[in-house]
Amino acid sequence: MMAAGQAAAAGAQVLLLERMARLGTKLRITGKGRCNLTNMAEFDEFLGHFAFLGSEGETRFFLRNAFARFFAPDLVAFFEALGVATVVERGDRVFPVSNDAHQVAEALVRFALQQGVRVRMQSRVEDLLCHEGRIRGVVLHGGEPVAAGAVIIATGGASYPKTGSSGDGYRLAKTLGHTIVPLRPALVPLVIAGAEPRAMMGLSLRNVQVRLLLDGREVAGDFGEMLFTHFGVSGPIILTLSGPAVALLGRGRLEMSINLKPALSPEKLDERLRRDLDQYGKRGYRNLLKGLLPQSMIDVVVARTGIPPDKPAHQITAEERGRLRELLHDFRLIVTGHRSIDEAIVTAGGVDTREIDPRTMASRLVQGLYFAGEVLDVQADTGGYNLQAAFSTGFVAGQAAARFVAGG
Ligand SMILES: Cc1cc2nc3c(=O)[nH]c(=O)nc-3n(C[C@H](O)[C@H](O)[C@H](O)COP(=O)(O)OP(=O)(O)OC[C@H]3O[C@@H](n4cnc5c(N)ncnc54)[C@H](O)[C@@H]3O)c2cc1C
Repeated sequence: MMAAGQAAAAGAQVLLLERMARLGTKLRITGKGRCNLTNMAEFDEFLGHFAFLGSEGETRFFLRNAFARFFAPDLVAFFEALGVATVVERGDRVFPVSNDAHQVAEALVRFALQQGVRVRMQSRVEDLLCHEGRIRGVVLHGGEPVAAGAVIIATGGASYPKTGSSGDGYRLAKTLGHTIVPLRPALVPLVIAGAEPRAMMGLSLRNVQVRLLLDGREVAGDFGEMLFTHFGVSGPIILTLSGPAVALLGRGRLEMSINLKPALSPEKLDERLRRDLDQYGKRGYRNLLKGLLPQSMIDVVVARTGIPPDKPAHQITAEERGRLRELLHDFRLIVTGHRSIDEAIVTAGGVDTREIDPRTMASRLVQGLYFAGEVLDVQADTGGYNLQAAFSTGFVAGQAAARFVAGG
């Protein structure tokens, strides 16, 4: 929608082909329905959130140009002009004041239509028409050809396929010789060994420190909120850590260490436990844990420490107290896998950015062919970075495609 609107604003006749019955199906579910549309982090910090993957690690370099042309403040101003007031929240995340992702999607639809974009719904592009190295149009499902002087592929990734993004763009790009960096799920929940996650299903832990360990060596870490599910773990910090986790699975023993009391040093935590044990000496161990842990963790911690649940607090030995303290600071989980790409927030991999001109988003292989958004091998942490990348590359691609058609 951004690419189409920009191309039309630059004078091109634009037809937007959408396979679904409405525009922006995925956009409408972003940010848990609130749409975290961008992030107010400084330029270099912003780019740093694209660091962990990408074509030969060149993602940051690739996006620098598009962000220099159309960045977060520009996007905020763009939406404000369309009547979408925004607010900056924790972690510099930007949301619409309305907390309604539909409002963002509807504003984009309005923008595209106001610029004169024609839209055809339920029109799935199945093939590209190319002659002598130059794009000539597309072919729709059912065989109808549509002639065009330029084509922008903005088909999204391969995750959440029910929103329409089932990976068509990768196949289309490949037919014209583009390299597709292998697809992987990114920002994806992780599968944990054993039955404990199921026992704690629905439990959300806030302000915890999580470290990812490969053969006991720390490889990544994050602080914030996580969630237990029937298969393992999810939530903001898990999604962030899923990047390195997916890459490292199968390379050794992959573990997650949760620090449940990161604000307390081992000494301070020991002091706190000692105080509790003294103060509530007659209480059973299980009861005592109620003051320390969320309800659904208690049985798991009782089982792990091996201390009898009814043991009176004053009988708990120093060694047992030490065991509990260690567990609270280092609650280990074994990562055995990740959920499928269908459940990933974004798809890593995609059209190799080395075959795309970063100043225009034009294909270096086929004249008149452009790319924008997640179909490119561009992916970032959660925080609004992915949508900004889609908007910025769409902005650049739309304007460049219009110039190309006009003969510029
Ligand atoms: C649950 C969830 C929450 C998210 N939350 C956030 C968030 O808060 N902030 C953030 O920055 N990112 C978020 N993301 C990621 C973000 O939504 C995507 O990175 C972004 O939507 C990519 O934009 P896009 O335009 O490239 O692709 P999409 O938004 O996927 O749009 C692609 C469009 O192309 C259409 N299409 C596909 N194939 C064809 C075809 N062959 N013919 C015609 N049309 C076709 C699709 O139907 C779709 O409408 C979230 C993702 C998910 C799944």
